[in-house]
Formats: sequence, C-alpha cells, structure tokens
Amino acid sequence: DTARDAYRARNPRSAELHAAARATMPGGNTRTALHFAPFPLYAARSAGARITDVDGHDYLDALGEYTAGLYGHSHPVVVEAVRETLAAGVSNGAPGPADVALARLIAERFPAVEQLRFCNSGTEANLYALTLARIATGRGAVMAFEGAYHGGVLNFGGGAAMRAAMDWRVERFNDPAIGDRIRAAGDRLAAVIVEPIMTNAGCIPAEPAFLAALREACDATGALLIFDEIVTSRHGPAGAQGLYGLRPDLTTLGKYLGGGFSFGAFGGPAELMARFDPFRPDGLPHAGTFNNNVFSMRVGAAALERAFPPERAEALFADGERLRCELNAICAGLDLRVRFTGRGSIMAVHFTADPILRPDDLPAQTEERALLHLDLIEAGLYSAPRGQFALSLAMEAADMAEISTTISAALERRRALYP
Ligand code: PLP
Repeated sequence: DTARDAYRARNPRSAELHAAARATMPGGNTRTALHFAPFPLYAARSAGARITDVDGHDYLDALGEYTAGLYGHSHPVVVEAVRETLAAGVSNGAPGPADVALARLIAERFPAVEQLRFCNSGTEANLYALTLARIATGRGAVMAFEGAYHGGVLNFGGGAAMRAAMDWRVERFNDPAIGDRIRAAGDRLAAVIVEPIMTNAGCIPAEPAFLAALREACDATGALLIFDEIVTSRHGPAGAQGLYGLRPDLTTLGKYLGGGFSFGAFGGPAELMARFDPFRPDGLPHAGTFNNNVFSMRVGAAALERAFPPERAEALFADGERLRCELNAICAGLDLRVRFTGRGSIMAVHFTADPILRPDDLPAQTEERALLHLDLIEAGLYSAPRGQFALSLAMEAADMAEISTTISAALERRRALYP
C-alpha cells in the first residue's frame, strides 16, 4: 500500500475535504464515477487542458469530465457565451432564440435526428426515448446489452447496478445471433437500445455486422432501434451513425452538447417526435423546468457551431485514432500484454492481449487498474479510475505526446504487474 500512503501524504487538503464530505454524503460521494480509494482529488480550478487540485498540483486532464469536457476548460467561445448569457439574464420561463439555434444545429448534424426535444441529462434522454418507443409501438419489452451503461437507473453492469423497472431483455453485445434473439421476442419488443461503441464497459466498438443485424431485425419486427450517442456523438461529423452508416429510429444525446452545462436530448423522425406536439389533443406532455435552461442552450449552440464544426470533429477523431495506435505499438514494443481499445478520442486500457468483443471478455483487474490510476496521478496525468482516457479540443500535439509518454512510463515501471 505504499502507493496509497504516498497519495495520502501528497494530498492533505483533498483528504480533509473528503473527511468532511463523509459527514453529509455517503462515502463522501455524490457521483459514483468520481469515487476512488483512498479519496478523490478535489479540484480547485482548471484552464485549457489542465486542472489544478486543492493541494496545488497541476494535471493534464485526460478524464475530460467523462467526455462532457470536450471543449476543455474555459474555451474562449464558451467563456464569451457564458458572459453573454449572464448579461442577458437567466431563469426566463420562456423559450429563447438559442433553443431554436441549438435544435437546428443538432438536426443538421445527425442524419437520423429530424426533430428533437431537450432534457437535463443523458439518463433522462434514454428514459424518454424508451418510454416513447413503448408508447409508439404499444409494446412492453425493451432490449439492452450486458455491461451497458445508459444512465444512473439504466445500468446493465454487474454488481449492485440500479435498473428502472421495465420488461428488460438483456442480451450479449456483438452476439452474431442477435437477429434471431430479436425475432424471437417478436411483437413484444418495443425497442433495442445500444451504444454503438460501448464506453463505460471498456470502450468496445460494435462490429459493423452486429449493428447491421440490429437494424435489420428491428425493421423486421417493428421494434425501434435506439442509438445511445450520448458519448459517441463526438466521433466525426455525424456521430457513430455516420461512422457506421446506419440510421437508428431514435438517437439520444448528452454530455458536451450543452457546452459544459447539464444536457440531454432525444430525437428521431418528425412523424415519431410529433407525439409530443402540444398542438395535438393527444400530445404527450414532456415538461421539465430546465429542459431549455439558457446556459445549456446558448453556450451549447455557440460552442457546437464555432468550436466543434464538422471538420474539427473529424480532426479530433483522427488524433484519437493515432494516439490509440501509438499506445498499442508502445505496449507491443515493451512486450506487455496490455492493449488500448476504443475509437477516436475516447479509449481504455486493458491488461490482456486477447480479443475483446464484449464486457465479459475483460478480466476484473481491479488492483492493476487502481495502481495504474494512482501512478498516473503521481506523474501528473488525471484520468478515469476505470482506465479510460478522453481527449479534449484544448489538447495540442504536445499534450497528446505527454499522455502517451506518461502512460508508457507508468506501464513500464510496473511491468511486473502486467505479465
Ligand atoms: N449513456 C451513456 C453511454 C453514458 O456514458 C452516460 C453517462 O456517462 C449516460 C448515458 C448518462 O448520461 P448522464 O450522466 O448525463 O445522465
């Protein structure tokens, strides 16, 4: 436990805050993904691609707010839009011009989204999309995949995962026989929800044939195909649906699209989304005090239009592909049974050289991961405890090189752990 002792000694102010937090929040925590032992770092401030903790250490931020931090910290476009928003006033209780602008920008970008509605989080977006699918089809069952994470109450990981009460059919990701499984559920199945590249469960891309089989079987049975693009929408100009060349029925969005403020959205064909049209006597009510909160709308629209145009999305995707290949080449060169999976600017490290097609191909490796994470912190790289890394637009070539050298040095230091 020398790594943890050193961590404690180095971070006294974070330790104090965590001890105080434990009095009023269980385990001192209000966001499970930010917890790690012995205690998380408490952030004091951030700028560009760097974050500073309350003990005064600087880190290169490769956690990237679990991908919501696409713009990095204090991007000039974001700062300007925040100032304008504050100056113009908040909590208006009325639609604003930015709602229209952001909806148009998103609909232009994602081919399957003709119309959309905003909400407050990715979890909410998925709950609404699933509920809409059940109402629109008049069916009850919904299919998801083992290990998937679609939000706080839509967690298909192991352990004590929380699950919204629905008639769930949980199948295996990248199962070549998935078409048969969907057809077997037949006219009971309202929807299949899938993240085209599983993020939380280890950055595992779907095989193109798997997604194509989902599309085909959903068409055959009348179930709606929902792509959870809350994370993957950053992958290129049109998200994962663009990458794979497939059109889901419903798309859910979140994370960076609020410009760093809370965000969720779900959308699809105008005909389906018309269920929510309040002009219709049978229009479904979808309220939500902060559905169009002015920060998410105004900053989200400005940032998407000016800081993340399609060509920037393409460039970031290419940067990530390069970095992941480089990391894998380094591991091969060091003769380590370690590999990096993912697509584009989001990747995860795994201590295995075997093929990874689905979460149950991943060994648990809790301690290896925890030690690598603490090692990286010590070396000035802030990342997700589960071994996930995300690039941001604030990173330059030198920052990406720093990620690669810091990770490879840490792996080499502890190579005995990774046979
Ligand atoms: N879906 C995916 C794939 C996610 O990664 C997340 C968040 O991590 C969510 C849904 C839930 O989004 P939120 O945390 O905004 O509720």
